[in-house]
Amino acid sequence: MTRRTGVVVIGGGQSGLATGYHLRRLGLDFVILDAQPAPGGAWQHAWDSLHLFSPAAYSSLPGRPMPVQAGETYPDAGHVVGYLTEYEHRYGLPVHRPVRVVGVHRAGDGSLRVETDSGTWQAQAVISATGTWWRPFLPAVPGRSDFRGRQLHTVEYRDPRHFGGLGVLPAEGGGRVVVVGGGNSGAQIAADLAYDTELTWVTQRPPRFLADDIDGRALFDVATARRRALDEGRTDTEGVASLGDIVAVPPVREARDAGLLKASPMFVRLDRDGIVWADGTRAPADAVIWCTGFRPALSHLAPLGLRGRRGRIATAGTRAVDEPRLHLLGYGDWTGPASATLIGVGRPARDATREIAELIAAEA
Ligand SMILES: Cc1cc2nc3c(=O)[nH]c(=O)nc-3n(C[C@H](O)[C@H](O)[C@H](O)COP(=O)(O)OP(=O)(O)OC[C@H]3O[C@@H](n4cnc5c(N)ncnc54)[C@H](O)[C@@H]3O)c2cc1C
Repeated sequence: MTRRTGVVVIGGGQSGLATGYHLRRLGLDFVILDAQPAPGGAWQHAWDSLHLFSPAAYSSLPGRPMPVQAGETYPDAGHVVGYLTEYEHRYGLPVHRPVRVVGVHRAGDGSLRVETDSGTWQAQAVISATGTWWRPFLPAVPGRSDFRGRQLHTVEYRDPRHFGGLGVLPAEGGGRVVVVGGGNSGAQIAADLAYDTELTWVTQRPPRFLADDIDGRALFDVATARRRALDEGRTDTEGVASLGDIVAVPPVREARDAGLLKASPMFVRLDRDGIVWADGTRAPADAVIWCTGFRPALSHLAPLGLRGRRGRIATAGTRAVDEPRLHLLGYGDWTGPASATLIGVGRPARDATREIAELIAAEA
């Protein structure tokens, strides 16, 4: 049986919920389909010590400010899950879960057909808000399959104790761990492990810490200034990327100031026992954690044939250039400046839903 609706939103994380808020305000008929069994999107799977890099007041979706977490300037991931859970109940958002979208197709009548693991929906427009957490990226480094130790990606990391419990490190503590990646996840996980393991932190270029007094508030201001500059046709300032890569959240700052976060350059290959640098120097390792980022989770859009050069779907704002019924939201600056943040996703979500409302009104 095929069910019909105005708009299908794919993904019920923060981006999908912000979209739902605006669709509700516009009075459109819609559903949100989310593959997770519970609310909270990727935040449900974050490692234990992860805290936001902005205070609650700078981490809010449209309409409902995030409450302050008692005793924490920077809320933890559990607090975000609680906030998102409350948000979707508060606005009565029609989230269906767990429902995984397996393919979006053009239907014969010009609408879009959304195939899921539990039935089919037909919609006048689709907003894809599936995030990136579900597509971890690992670089092609020679010898990766030769390494006999354990390899993990950021998405599998929990905390030092659980990590020790995986059986790859000595039960009595210690063990040799290589953390790869000079972004926020690499720095935070390296800081987490720096006290209890023999840590080698490897980054492609020397780590670029943001000034200690810069947190998500300043980042948001810079992203906003960039958006304004681009809107007004001024030169691109590069936004937050020009400030650095790593927000010096308190645990990172402490480990860095204790001299525990010294980075080594990227190695050229792995062998059975560890990593090998270009000059032949080796570092034996029990485990390698790849904090090497993510790619947008877009395989469900493959039937639309929209991927252009370098695998990217061309967008104008959030709208897919070659499929005006499709919007993409929350994947990074290419789907709206700061759209991959809690505070930044509201504006592109509003713009996307307005465009869709116009499209639906024009067809009525
Ligand atoms: C380490 C880290 C730290 C971060 N720190 C901050 C921070 O401090 N402040 C901040 O604002 N942002 C931060 N972010 C960025 C951002 O807030 C998160 O990445 C956020 O989870 C993105 O939300 P989303 O809704 O776009 O995607 P997600 O949270 O990933 O939600 C997408 C949802 O779509 C579902 N889905 C995926 N594929 C399908 C499918 N085919 N069918 C149906 N459902 C599907 C998923 O199961 C998921 O529930 C951080 C990100 C990371 C990785």
